[in-house]
Amino acid sequence: MISKFKSCFIFLLLFLVSCSPNLKLVDPPSGRTLGSFQAKAKQAMVVTANKEATDIGVSVLRKGGSAVDAAIAVSFALSVLRPQSSGIGGGGFMLYFDKKKNKTVALDFREFAPFKASRTMYIKEGKADSKLAKDGALSVAVPRLVAGLGDTYDHYSDKKIPWPDLVKPSIDLARAGFSVYPHLAHSILERKDVLSRFNASKKLFLPNSKPLKEGDILVQSDLAGTLEKIAAKGWGGFYAGDVATAIVRSVQLAGGLITIDDLMAVEPIETEPLEQTYQGYIVVTMPPPSSGGVTLIETLNMLEEFPISRWGPYHPKTIHVMTEALRRSFIDRARYLGDPHFVKIPLKGLIAKNYAKTLAESIDIHRATPTESLSPKELTPKESESTTHFSIIDVQGNAVVSTQTINQYFGSGMVVEGTGIVLNDEMDDFSMVGSDANAIEPGKKPLSSMAPTLVFNKKGELVMALGSPGGPRIITAVLQTLLNRIDFEASPLDAVAAKRIHHQAFPDELQYEAGMLNAEVSQKLGAMGHALKELNPPWLVMLISKVRNNWVGVSDPRGTGTAKGF
Ligand code: GLU
Repeated sequence: MISKFKSCFIFLLLFLVSCSPNLKLVDPPSGRTLGSFQAKAKQAMVVTANKEATDIGVSVLRKGGSAVDAAIAVSFALSVLRPQSSGIGGGGFMLYFDKKKNKTVALDFREFAPFKASRTMYIKEGKADSKLAKDGALSVAVPRLVAGLGDTYDHYSDKKIPWPDLVKPSIDLARAGFSVYPHLAHSILERKDVLSRFNASKKLFLPNSKPLKEGDILVQSDLAGTLEKIAAKGWGGFYAGDVATAIVRSVQLAGGLITIDDLMAVEPIETEPLEQTYQGYIVVTMPPPSSGGVTLIETLNMLEEFPISRWGPYHPKTIHVMTEALRRSFIDRARYLGDPHFVKIPLKGLIAKNYAKTLAESIDIHRATPTESLSPKELTPKESESTTHFSIIDVQGNAVVSTQTINQYFGSGMVVEGTGIVLNDEMDDFSMVGSDANAIEPGKKPLSSMAPTLVFNKKGELVMALGSPGGPRIITAVLQTLLNRIDFEASPLDAVAAKRIHHQAFPDELQYEAGMLNAEVSQKLGAMGHALKELNPPWLVMLISKVRNNWVGVSDPRGTGTAKGF
C-alpha cells in the first residue's frame, strides 16, 4: 500500500516537473487560431512577419538555396511588403551560423551618420528641434541594407542560386502589387502628415491625397525598377549610377546632408558576436552598435543568481527580480553603449558573470530600487514601433536571424523620386539614450536595440533562433521568450504567445500586457514600490526552436506573420 502511494506520488511529481507552466497567452487576431502561427518541420524553417515573405524564403530553400540565400530573398521581399518597417533605404543586423564550420558571425549593416553630420545639426535658432531627427531629409542616415546583403552573398553564399534570382520574386511582387493589410494601413494613417510633405511619398501612400486603406492594392513600380538595377548590378545598382544620384538629389533638395561620398563609403560588415552562457545554454547575440545583445546578456547573468524557475513565471518575486535586473542593465546601456569605433565600451566587463553577481547583490528582494538612486544622470528614453525580424534554418542546419529597420514607420517619410526607396530616419537613434557615448559624430552608427539571437545547448547544437522588433522592448521580448523556454519549460508557441512585462529604467515604470498580472500579484508588486502600467506593445518575436528532431517555427500571434517549413 505504502509503495503504491509512493509510486503515485513520484508519478505526480514527475508529471508536475515535466508540465510547462500555465502561461497566460495573448489572444490570436480574429479569424486565426494560435496554432496557425506555428509550423513543425524536419529539415528547414522560415519565420517572418508576412506570409508572402515566408513563402519566398521557403521556395529559395526548396530550390537548394542556403539560409543566407533565403535571408537575402526575404529581406528584399520585406522591403516591398513592409515599406513601413524596413527596406533598402534602411539597415540592420544579422547573425549567420555556419554549421560546417561550427561558427557564428555577426553582420553589421547599420546605417551611419553622413560625413557632414554634427552634434549641432538639430539646433535651430539656438533651440534643439527633435522633430528634425525624426522626419524629413535631415533625419536620414546612410542606407546600408543593400551593401550588407551584397557582402553577405559574396562572402557566405555558396552561389547555387544566382543573385538576380534572389531579387526577382520581389521585383514581381512590387510590380504586381499586394493588398494593403491592417498594420500597413494603420502606419500610413499614423504618418500621413510627414508622408504628405514629399511628392513621391504622397503619390505612393496617399494617392489623390487619400491614405491607402485596408484592401487597396499597393503597386510599387518605381521600387520594382530599382530592384531590377540591384538584381543586375548588385551593390552598384544602389550606391552608384541613377539610383545613387536620385538619393543624393532628393535628400539635398529637401535640406539633408547625404553625398555620393557617403554612399560610396566601404564598410566591413563582419564582426564578432557576443557569447555568454545561461543555465548551461550558450547564448550568441549581436554586439554594439546594438545595445540589444549586451543588455540581454547582462540581464540573463543577473537572473541566473535567482531561483526563478522554482518561483514560477508569475510569482511576484520573479517579476520583481526581472524588473530589477532590467533596470540595472538598461542603466548600463544608457551609460556605456554606443558605436564601438567611436567610444570605448567595457564590453567584456559588462557581460561578465562576476559583474552581474555584484549587480544582483544590490537587488533588494523586498523593495524596488528607484532608478533615480542608481543613475544620477537624466537620460531620455526613446520609443520606436517599427522594424521587422525573421529567422531561417536551412537543410544543412545553417541558420540566419536578422532584424532590419528604417526606424519609425516609413522612416523619414521621404520616398526618393523615381526610385520607390523609403529613406530611414535612423539619425533619431542618436537620441535613444541621451549620453555622450551615443552622441552624433560624422560616420558614427547610432545605438540600436536590435537583438537577433541564437542559442546552443551544452553539446553545441543549435536549439533556438529568434529576435523581434519593438525598440528597447526587443530586449525584453527576446529575454522572456528565452526564460519561458529554458526556465519555465514552455512549448515554443507558449513561449512566444505568453504575455510579457517591460522595464527599461527610464521611465521608472513596470509595464505589463493586459491580463498578465492578477490583482494579488499587482498589489504585491505595488507594495514593493513598482509603478505598474498596462501597455500595448509593438513586439513580434519570430522563433525557431528545436523540439526533439523537429524544428518548430513560431510567428508571434501579436502580428499576422507565418512560419513554414518542410
Ligand atoms: N531604430 C530602432 C533600433 O535600431 C529600431 C528598433 C525597433 O523599432 O524595433 O533599435
